[in-house]
Amino acid sequence: MSKVKYYYDPDTLSYRKIEPKKSRRFRNIALFFLGSFLFGFLGLILLLNTNLVNTPRELSLAREVKNYELQFELLGKKMEQIENVLANIEDRDNNIYRLYFEANPIPEEQRRAGFGGVNRYKSLEGFNNSEMIIATTKRLDIIQKQMVIQSKSLDEITKLAEEKEKLLAAIPAIQPIKNEDLTRMASGYGWRSDPFTKARKMHWGMDFTSPKGTPIYASGDGTITRADNNASGYGKHIRIDHGYGYMSLYGHLSQYNVKARQKVKRGDLIGFVGSTGRSEAPHLHYEVWKDDERINPINFYYGSLTAEEFENMLKYANQENQSLD
Ligand SMILES: [Zn+2]
Repeated sequence: MSKVKYYYDPDTLSYRKIEPKKSRRFRNIALFFLGSFLFGFLGLILLLNTNLVNTPRELSLAREVKNYELQFELLGKKMEQIENVLANIEDRDNNIYRLYFEANPIPEEQRRAGFGGVNRYKSLEGFNNSEMIIATTKRLDIIQKQMVIQSKSLDEITKLAEEKEKLLAAIPAIQPIKNEDLTRMASGYGWRSDPFTKARKMHWGMDFTSPKGTPIYASGDGTITRADNNASGYGKHIRIDHGYGYMSLYGHLSQYNVKARQKVKRGDLIGFVGSTGRSEAPHLHYEVWKDDERINPINFYYGSLTAEEFENMLKYANQENQSLD
């Protein structure tokens, strides 16, 4: 309640009430409202700036950021799984595939190399979440590079495997005469007594004794380089060039089944046992050459013999008997 004010009126000699002016009253009321409004407004601004209260929009943005962070964490876990699988493939690649095909393992530093030089991640800098996004991008870049290197390595392995397959098909790896066609294993590679002079001399091949006309088979894929009677001692003979430095020779034949320059596959019938040239009795004289040197053919029969047969052949071939040449 406002106080009622009085003043002394000398005309009437009495105290009289002061009547407030209407205009002044209105002004006071207006000022009061203006002041309240300003104070309230300032207070609100202060309050909003102190983070004590969030607007609904801020709350929803904050929730969204939280969700991004969670999703990033999940993606990080998935990347970790991919990294583990890749590491496993790389391990097999280095220690099994590349080892088997005699290729050098690819070093870890080369497989895990990121990108050097200019800063590729400049555009990602300057945000609250820059660190997290740059780290993730770097990880993905490395994974991508790893995949390319791994893929190239497998291409190389495929090529090497094809080569190895050709090499394995080319190597003279079977016995040139069927076991059931053999009368006996006459003589192996090594020092033997010469059937003609009886002197000890090196026998450079293996002699397979079997009747005249017994089929002779190519011991590996290759090209016939010779099928003629013009080499001293061998009589009618065949030579097959297998590539990779390998050559096989078949001597003392009675008949050819192939011509020079003809391509043959392992197991193809190339001729028939005879006793032409420097020979005592029908047999096949068989030689294997590697880089222009004669080597022991017995090391190449794994393709056609059982362990027991190989054992038997080894026993006979090592007997120091007389060769048939
Ligand atoms: Zn011989």
